[in-house]
Amino acid sequence: MEKISKTKEEWKKLLSEEEYRITREKGTEPPFSGKYNKFYEKGAYRCINCGNPLFSSDTKFDSGSGWPSFWEKASKDSVEFREDNDFGMVRTEVLCKKCGAHLGHVFDDGPHPTNKRYCINSVAMDFKPEDNR
Ligand code: FE
Repeated sequence: MEKISKTKEEWKKLLSEEEYRITREKGTEPPFSGKYNKFYEKGAYRCINCGNPLFSSDTKFDSGSGWPSFWEKASKDSVEFREDNDFGMVRTEVLCKKCGAHLGHVFDDGPHPTNKRYCINSVAMDFKPEDNR
């Protein structure tokens, strides 16, 4: 997979202020505010920065957390992980594998079969109904 690398200034030109703050500065949308929190149409969720397929509606579930939640990534090329020690917590940050966009975090309290809970900002994703893989 070809990775995408851009400068801060280049990303700023391509993204809205909120998209930039969340995906490029590790921001978080307020819980229960995102457009995909209670959203269960069939389709694919792509990276808002680069279009990389991240998650499928097939693995979306209602975690009650206030953020869109998935129990599996779309493919091995979807995301990568980084240890995140901000705010005195040890968490695992989830980033787009193609462009490095901050997406959210992953936790080990999800449902079967993976027991993973990918907790992802709506702002970091773009849903496409016709592209469900
Ligand atoms: Fe991306």
